[in-house]
Amino acid sequence: MSPIDHTHDANARSWLASANAAGTDFPIQNLPFSVFRRGGTQEAFRGGVAIGDQVLDLAALAGTGALQGPALQAARAAAQAALNDFFALGPAAWRALRHALFALLKDDAPAQTALVRDCLVPQREAEHTVPARIGDYTDFYTSLDHAVNCTRLMLADGDVTPNFRWLPIAYHGRVSTIGVSGQQFRRPMGQVMPPGAKAPVYQACARMDYELELGIWIGQGNAAGEPIDIAQAEQHIFGICLLNDWSARDIQVWEMAPLGPFLAKNFATTISPWIVTLDALAPYRTAWPRPATDPQPLAYLDSPANREAGAIDIRLEVWLESQRARREGRGPARLSSTSFRHQYWSVAQMVAHHTVGGCVLNPGDLLGSGTISGPGPGEAGAMIELAYGGTRPVPLGDGEERGFLQDGDAVMLRGWCEKPGAARIGFGESRGQLLPARSQAPV
Ligand code: CA
Repeated sequence: MSPIDHTHDANARSWLASANAAGTDFPIQNLPFSVFRRGGTQEAFRGGVAIGDQVLDLAALAGTGALQGPALQAARAAAQAALNDFFALGPAAWRALRHALFALLKDDAPAQTALVRDCLVPQREAEHTVPARIGDYTDFYTSLDHAVNCTRLMLADGDVTPNFRWLPIAYHGRVSTIGVSGQQFRRPMGQVMPPGAKAPVYQACARMDYELELGIWIGQGNAAGEPIDIAQAEQHIFGICLLNDWSARDIQVWEMAPLGPFLAKNFATTISPWIVTLDALAPYRTAWPRPATDPQPLAYLDSPANREAGAIDIRLEVWLESQRARREGRGPARLSSTSFRHQYWSVAQMVAHHTVGGCVLNPGDLLGSGTISGPGPGEAGAMIELAYGGTRPVPLGDGEERGFLQDGDAVMLRGWCEKPGAARIGFGESRGQLLPARSQAPV
């Protein structure tokens, strides 16, 4: 696991004032990566690192002479329009760049401060794109609370499927419709089986939902037939972003037996532009508990390090901004809040399980964590849980409520980590907006 070092010092400050502002997502202890350019221009997309309210342009920085050795090599790889080559360099290179950037941005940085300042672009002027060429996308289903909530919508005292407590369940998803924050998409059309009907109808999805998830970015991959041992699994993970797995529930329930979700999940997936590295997340690791009354993981899914610190306390929130709230300037309503630390399977277990049969992971592959729901009320990561299948609509304020999403709704995911003795670091935001269906007419 990533070590705690001087870059996690809660007292460290930057010469850039906005990086020291209370509540900023991007203090000097964070240094997350994205791919960006100045909005409204035809500039080349290139890698950048968030610091305060700025983006540090890695392409510009690599040309200044402020970096040397492995950090310069890493910055050149990260200066491209996709971060795959940077991911492929591995943890030593990622760490060399983190340490070098930390030194350049710290308040006691040597003389290059002016050089570095010239490489900053205000975040409000930046536009982002998906930060890597994603070869494969896999979506897991690893929150026990989410799985129990969904099961009980169908069967009041139902339990999860027998495999759930033995393996991290997943399906192979679709890359082509993954978009970065700001994504807009049309309400999907599809086949729906109305209750009691004998034949499905073709219509616009009437039960549109979101799913609060995290995206896990694969760094170095593995060779075919060579599983990644759980003890090494985290060395293959570059970092984590926010991920919204938009879900058409009525299409899903009809199509998913027996092979799993298909069109209900492949029309849009929205990720946050910023990838927070596992190194930055080191202070917020926490024990991965498995109750003694539950099945214990098979050996390939178990390790002392995973038991000790396999979970990560990432605080998460879902917000909804309706068209009316936007028009009236009312602002978004918070729907739920929880933490990733409740997840039944850890990120290391997901990687170990994914590859145990010989499957290849490549740099830039993306794993969805599965919907993240916590154990308490108001901790559900999808509206179908919060609103009990649409039967108990969730209040948004000023008389508005939602059982499922309506056209024009924007959903924002937010995430951050904080604990006594460590800096607060954040993930920024993943925002996506539902547009009306293209057509009600059959095609
Ligand atoms: Ca999902």
